[in-house]
Amino acid sequence: MTTPHDHNTRLQRAVLSLEGLALGDAFGGRFTYRDTAGRHLPPPIWYFSDDTVMALGVVAILSRHTRIETEPLARLFAANFQADPYRGYGQSVRRVLDRIAEGVPWSVAARESFGGTGSMGNGGAMRVAPLGAYYADDLSTLVEQARASAEVTHAHPEGQAGAIATALAAAWAWNHRSETSPQFGRVTTQAVVPPEPLTPPLRGDPLPQGERDVFPSESGENKSHTSPLVGEVGPLRGPGEGCGRDLSRTGGVDTSTRSGQDLLAFVVEHTPLSETRTGIEKALALGPDRSIVEATTTLGNGSRITAPDTVPFALWCAARHIDDYSEALWSTVEAGGDNDTNCAIVGGIVILANGRESIPTEWFEAAEMLPIGSPAGNPDRP
Ligand SMILES: [Mg+2]
Repeated sequence: MTTPHDHNTRLQRAVLSLEGLALGDAFGGRFTYRDTAGRHLPPPIWYFSDDTVMALGVVAILSRHTRIETEPLARLFAANFQADPYRGYGQSVRRVLDRIAEGVPWSVAARESFGGTGSMGNGGAMRVAPLGAYYADDLSTLVEQARASAEVTHAHPEGQAGAIATALAAAWAWNHRSETSPQFGRVTTQAVVPPEPLTPPLRGDPLPQGERDVFPSESGENKSHTSPLVGEVGPLRGPGEGCGRDLSRTGGVDTSTRSGQDLLAFVVEHTPLSETRTGIEKALALGPDRSIVEATTTLGNGSRITAPDTVPFALWCAARHIDDYSEALWSTVEAGGDNDTNCAIVGGIVILANGRESIPTEWFEAAEMLPIGSPAGNPDRP
């Protein structure tokens, strides 16, 4: 495929979504055993989990190939897992990634789960918001690419529907972003994407001794984090032919109907028939005025770690607070459930509507640095 003429711009907004996703993941993950009453910020460091590592992989492949190439994506997922396996990966995806690392084709490995049906987990959704940002103006390609990004580990149609729905929500958020945010006048590609390939592979800091129980192994044994390999966000591309069609109403920002209900209606319209889509229809019918308890009773909260149990609730939270990043995440963690993934999905979407300036500085300062050549949040941080 020819490089899109606006590849750099697309990548810039994908990285913005990645920042919101990573911070949401790290924030949500700190509430696994923590009460949300009083809304006290958890102490740093907020380490990100598998959601962010896999989203970094998605962005790296988009950067390098200007589209999802499934073989390189599967290999990168597996390599990153092997380099740093204690980031909270689920049991099912651990098996898939081990098999891919052994040389089994992803198309075989992903189908081996759950008696041959493949996983309907929320892993495809948790990593896909940056892809939705990248294809925000190209609906048909967005759907195809979101499915491709999910299928390397999630062969079940529900796992893929969850990814498609989340990517659609991210695209909607970008197309209805606030032009008044300082973010959109200030951010530059240079600020978020390094100009040269990053070699050797990126590495993060090992967890300090006291934090080694953040992501205990399945056996309950604590393991240290060492040398996470998270992939490259590669060189910027030159101009090429454009691709896709404009799905925004004006060809630019459309803030005339910026309501979470419109977000959910848009996602329902374009998500494949599935249990996940039915759940999003329920979220739309629920409306924004219901309580978190009512929402979780109707939609779930991710505690089953499936796409139908996660994505409708996460999109309801994102839609309910589409104008407020921190409020969206505080509301999300009140539900319990799969906190890091719920918040990764919400964060990757809501930041696109509001920009990184909408996020409190202390949140960025508390979070683990994103290994993409610049700090996860504050570029001025020492
Ligand atoms: Mg996680």
